[in-house]
Amino acid sequence: MKIVDKYFRRINRLRISVTELCNLRCIYCRPENGLALSEHKDILTYEEIATVVQHAVMLGIKSFRLTGGEPLVRRGIENLLCMLGKIQGVEDLAITTNGIYLKNYAKLLKENGLVRLNISLDSLEETKFERVTRGGKLKDVLDGIEEVLTLGFKNTKINVVAMKGINDDEFEEFARLTLERDLEVRFIEYMAMNKESLASEDKFIPMSDIIDIIERNNDLIALPPPMLGSGAAKVYKIKGAMGTLGFVSAVSQPFCGSCNRLRLTSDGKLRSCLLSGGEVDLKAILRNNPTEEILTDAFIRAANLKPSVHAGKGHVVMHQVGG
Ligand code: SAM
Repeated sequence: MKIVDKYFRRINRLRISVTELCNLRCIYCRPENGLALSEHKDILTYEEIATVVQHAVMLGIKSFRLTGGEPLVRRGIENLLCMLGKIQGVEDLAITTNGIYLKNYAKLLKENGLVRLNISLDSLEETKFERVTRGGKLKDVLDGIEEVLTLGFKNTKINVVAMKGINDDEFEEFARLTLERDLEVRFIEYMAMNKESLASEDKFIPMSDIIDIIERNNDLIALPPPMLGSGAAKVYKIKGAMGTLGFVSAVSQPFCGSCNRLRLTSDGKLRSCLLSGGEVDLKAILRNNPTEEILTDAFIRAANLKPSVHAGKGHVVMHQVGG
């Protein structure tokens, strides 16, 4: 069986937020303190997540990404990977992480079935990194990235949220990381999420400006989107580089027409869209001994809540939904 929403988009990816907790407080994502978190009993267990994935596979969803909060702060995350990796039909198992725990964790993740990683990194300058993340240590992330490359992971992406006046002076340096590394550096347009995140919208830089900045001193070649993990990005390469550059233009050029995903929040809501649209309370269903028909119905209802185009700025609780 396949899920196709009412705008004829085939749903074949699920992004799973495994925790609301994070070991960083990035200025564009979370408030410094005072975040209201769900109680432990309201967070899906690994067994419940595995049940969702098992069912999703039967509906033609083959690609799964763990996110958060920070997925590596949830204890035993390697056990969840291992459980999911054993489910027949799971073709792609990825994680989005801030990389802080990666140096020590990457090998264990690989041994337990992790296929690929996106690593968030918004500055290559130690003090700026510490400011943007409110206390993170740049070296931890850089060591994590080197470890991932050493272990031979393929399709690793570095997610850079582009912010005017904060890291636009570093776009070229980020891009040039791809010259000798098998990485994709992905520039993500800054989304003004909610009143607690980086308040001012003047931080926004459209994809076209980011490309202009990089193109000043580098020849860019446009590439066709790769089959695996192409997602929403437009992909380029600096002439002669080993790696690639991706540009995610969720704000200036929404790619909703080709959106193929649903999201599962850590408290068990099956969400139709990051920014708008409705959700289905899957946790309530899961905890009430559902039949396969009831689970299928929940997925179909969530898919049909997907808006044709997102409503621009959302009021997203990023730590619950996961980016
Ligand atoms: N903790 C993990 C991490 O840092 O990658 C996973 C969760 S984080 C919410 C997932 C992604 O969302 C990150 O790449 C982050 O940069 C992106 N993100 C969060 N807030 C954003 C915003 N306001 N605009 C654009 N991207 C954002």
